[in-house]
Formats: sequence, structure tokens, C-alpha cells
Amino acid sequence: NIFTVWSVDTQSEELKLSDWFLPSASKNLTTTNWSAPVVWDGTYNERILENYYANHKITVGLTVFAVGRYLERYLRRFIASADKHFMVGQKVIIYVLTDDFSHMPWIQLSPLHTMKVFEIKRERRWQDVSMMRMKTISEHVVNHIQYEVDFLFCMDVDQIFLRKYGLETLGESVAQLHAYWYNANPMEVPYERSQLSEAYIPIGQGDFYYHAAVFGGTPIQVLNIARECFKAIMIDKRNNIEAVWHDESHLNKYFFLHKPTKLLSPEFCWDFDRKRNPDIKSVKLYWAIKNYKYVRAT
Ligand code: UDP
Ligand code: MN
Repeated sequence: NIFTVWSVDTQSEELKLSDWFLPSASKNLTTTNWSAPVVWDGTYNERILENYYANHKITVGLTVFAVGRYLERYLRRFIASADKHFMVGQKVIIYVLTDDFSHMPWIQLSPLHTMKVFEIKRERRWQDVSMMRMKTISEHVVNHIQYEVDFLFCMDVDQIFLRKYGLETLGESVAQLHAYWYNANPMEVPYERSQLSEAYIPIGQGDFYYHAAVFGGTPIQVLNIARECFKAIMIDKRNNIEAVWHDESHLNKYFFLHKPTKLLSPEFCWDFDRKRNPDIKSVKLYWAIKNYKYVRAT
């Protein structure tokens, strides 16, 4: 393992980080039993990555959906923070999918970053807004994204980048360990347990519980993920069943059947409402505060 000490800009708007971090006591999992790396702060060397990609120019895509109240509530901060911390120094294309073009915030992006905005129709139920992302993502990858980027991330909008989120996260297929469940026994995690659903994972099976707020990979891998999840969602709909955590349940089933090639530690999608924890040394992205009633009101 290569370790590096790296300085970060702790100029956080909302958080006093010095209060929050403790020296690490526990040893975190750094490789899965199928030999995929689990990326934690301190397990990668930024300079080596940057030198490598200096000679291998890439473009990284990022899809984000902002439908209904999620647009005014979250989109500006998501994009502004991504502009500051996501793939610094690389070419980035942010794909915004929204139902309301006219309320798109104006955001000045830095020179290597561009944004493409697409209008989509709004689903009535928030569960469907979330699930139908899989369909929209596959269509956009097929139609244009596959020709535009080398790697693609798909993220929820209700989160904020805090520190450099960079090249260490790139891989063929990338899954995010869920902040609540990353050190739980797979017996305990909230997989779909009904055999009637396509998302079913039997008790005693499964590797990790992944968070659907972040997934990624090469465009072709992302296409596979999104297509398979969407197919499963539609089969469930025909059978009048909805998996307990919607698209996330199906994503977990997909990654159970097709192991991701890289896992991101919960530092890459943390919830500051959780207790301080020595595993979590350097948060890159965190959950925004959410008033469920308000944002999901129709
Ligand atoms: N979303 C949206 N409008 C909605 C519901 C969902 O734009 O009415 C998008 C948004 O990007 C959101 C994502 O779908 O972050 C997933 O939904 P949500 O964040 O509410 O799910 P949770 O994180 O609570 O599981
Ligand atoms: Mn979310």
C-alpha cells in the first residue's frame, strides 16, 4: 500500500471538522474477497494518479437529476461544490436532467468543466422519479454520453462535495458503501427479501450494502447497470411489487450478481448525522440536510 499525507482545504462553510475527526483506531477493509480495491483516504497516492492521467487525457461525466423541489433546494450547491472538488484538473461534463428548464440556476463553471441540461418529464411519485433515472441514464448513455466521456458517475442531487473527489474513484464499475451499513453483517442489511421481487437477495447472501446515491464506471458498464436495474424495476411493476428501497434494492442485486471492480469507502458519501467515527478520516462528499415532507411534496 502506498500512503500519502495530503493537505486539504478545511474551509468548510457548515462544519467544524477539527471537532469531528479522531485518530484512526480500527483497520478498514481495503480489498474485497473478489480482489476489488476499497478506496479509503490514505490508500492511494494522488501524485502518482495525477502524473499518470497527465499523459492519458480523460473526460469524466456526472449525471444528476433535479426534479420538482429538488431543483431549487439542492442543485446549485451540488454543482457549485462539484465544480470545486469533483475531478479537479480533469475535463468534466455535468449532465443535468430536470423537469423545469426555466428554473435552472446560472452557475459559472471553471474552464475544464461544462454542463449540459436536458428536460425530462416528471413522474408523479417520488419513488418513480428515483427509479426512472435508470431508464433516462441508459437512453442518454446510448445516445451521446458514451461518445463524450471515458468514465461516468451517476449521483443523487441531495449531497455536497466537501473535498477533492478525484482520480482515485475511477474504475470499470464503481459502487459506494452505504454510510449506515458499511461495517454491518450482510445478514442485517436492508436487501429486498421478497422472492417475488427481481431485487431479491436470500438471507445469508450478499457482500455489502451499496448506496444508490453514487455509482459509476465506464459508460458501457454504467449502461449495463442502468439497463439491468430498469428491466428489473419494470418486471416488478408488472408483478405489482416495489422493492423496499426502490432502485437501490435493484442496484444491490445487480452488484451482487456482477461484482463491482472498485468500492468507495463511506468517506465518499458520508452522513454527518452519524456518530463521529475513527474509520472516517476525510469526508469527500456528504448528505445534504433533507426535509422529506417538503422536498417530496407534489
Ligand atoms: N429526485 C428528484 N426529485 C424527486 C425525487 C428524486 O430530483 O422528486 C432525484 C434526486 O436527484 C434525488 C434522487 O432522485 O437525489 C434520489 O431520491 P432521494 O434523494 O429522495 O432518495 P434517498 O436519498 O432519500 O433515498
Ligand atoms: Mn438522496
